[in-house]
Amino acid sequence: MIERTIFHDIRDKKAAADIVYEDEEVMAFKDINPAAPTHLLFIPKKENDVIPSIADLTDETAHVPGLLIRTAQQFAKNRGIDGYRLTFHVGRGGGQMVFYIHLHFLSQQSL
Ligand code: 5GP
Repeated sequence: MIERTIFHDIRDKKAAADIVYEDEEVMAFKDINPAAPTHLLFIPKKENDVIPSIADLTDETAHVPGLLIRTAQQFAKNRGIDGYRLTFHVGRGGGQMVFYIHLHFLSQQSL
C-alpha cells in the first residue's frame, strides 16, 4: 500500500478529471496545468501496478512503464498525433509532485 494521492481519487472516480482514455489497466486524463496544447497523464489502474515513482520499480512492477508507453503510443496513433514527448518525473529532485506513477504525454497538436 502506498500513500493515497489525488490520482487514486481520479482513478476511483472520487475526484473529477477530464478522462480521455480508459481500459482495464490504464487511464489517461488531461493535466490540470497543461504545458502544451495536449498534456495528458497516463496512470496504471491495478493496485499491484500502482507504485509511487519509477524509483520504486521492482521485478514485479518492471512492466508498468512499458504498459503506459504502449498505451500512450496506441492512443496517439488512434488520434492521429504523430509527434509527442513522453516524460517521467522521478522523485522531488526530478520535479515529481504526485507520488502515483504517471507518464506525461505532451504534444503541440491538439486532441
Ligand atoms: P509530476 O508529479 O510528474 O511533477 O506531475 C504531476 C502533474 O499532475 C502536474 O503536471 C500537475 O499539473 C498535475 N496535477 C496535479 N493535481 C492534479 C489534479 O487534481 N488533476 C489533474 N488533472 N492534474 C493534476
